[in-house]
Amino acid sequence: MENAIRLVPASKEDKDLLARIEKEAGTSVSLCYQCGKCSAGCPVAFAMDNKPRQVIRFLQLGLIEAALGSDSIWICASCETCSARCPRGVDIASLMDALRREALRQGKITDKKVAVFNKAFLNGVKNFGRTYEAGLLLTHNFLTGQFFKDAELGLPMFKRGKLGLLPEKIKGREEVKKIFERVEEMGGE
Ligand code: SF4
Ligand code: SF4
Repeated sequence: MENAIRLVPASKEDKDLLARIEKEAGTSVSLCYQCGKCSAGCPVAFAMDNKPRQVIRFLQLGLIEAALGSDSIWICASCETCSARCPRGVDIASLMDALRREALRQGKITDKKVAVFNKAFLNGVKNFGRTYEAGLLLTHNFLTGQFFKDAELGLPMFKRGKLGLLPEKIKGREEVKKIFERVEEMGGE
């Protein structure tokens, strides 16, 4: 059957990897009883190849590769609706985040545009203490080869004062930089 998933006992490596992902996320997939409330409330579930409940099920079954290879982890908007609604207290949003980090570590990125956006967004916050929209837009478009994407929106947004040409820097940006350095020391990206 096409797209069928073969169930085999999880290897020790997969079990160890799941334990690490759960530790990073600060939650446990074994708590989930598959009610589907997370999928029902997710605002972007319609665009996902596997709904949040299914991603959790992959993890429960030791199918880590299937979870890491799912577009859903890149489509997740980190809104935390699922985590707030889960009757079992599973922090699904945090798991999605941990899966993204693991996929980045392993170079398994199904949606490169989202990964480029993530990186450009975080670089802006690291350097200026807050997001720099114009820089984010230009970096993203340049690195993804979509040079004129959303170009027609730039001028109207600029005229309405919604898009600054130069970055705004916050006072505490040195402290923000230290947070990034600390995360990198701890093995984050
Ligand atoms: S809402 Fe919680 S218990 Fe229900 S399927 Fe999602 S993770 Fe599992
Ligand atoms: S955090 Fe992600 S998976 Fe959860 S509801 Fe929001 S978009 Fe959906």
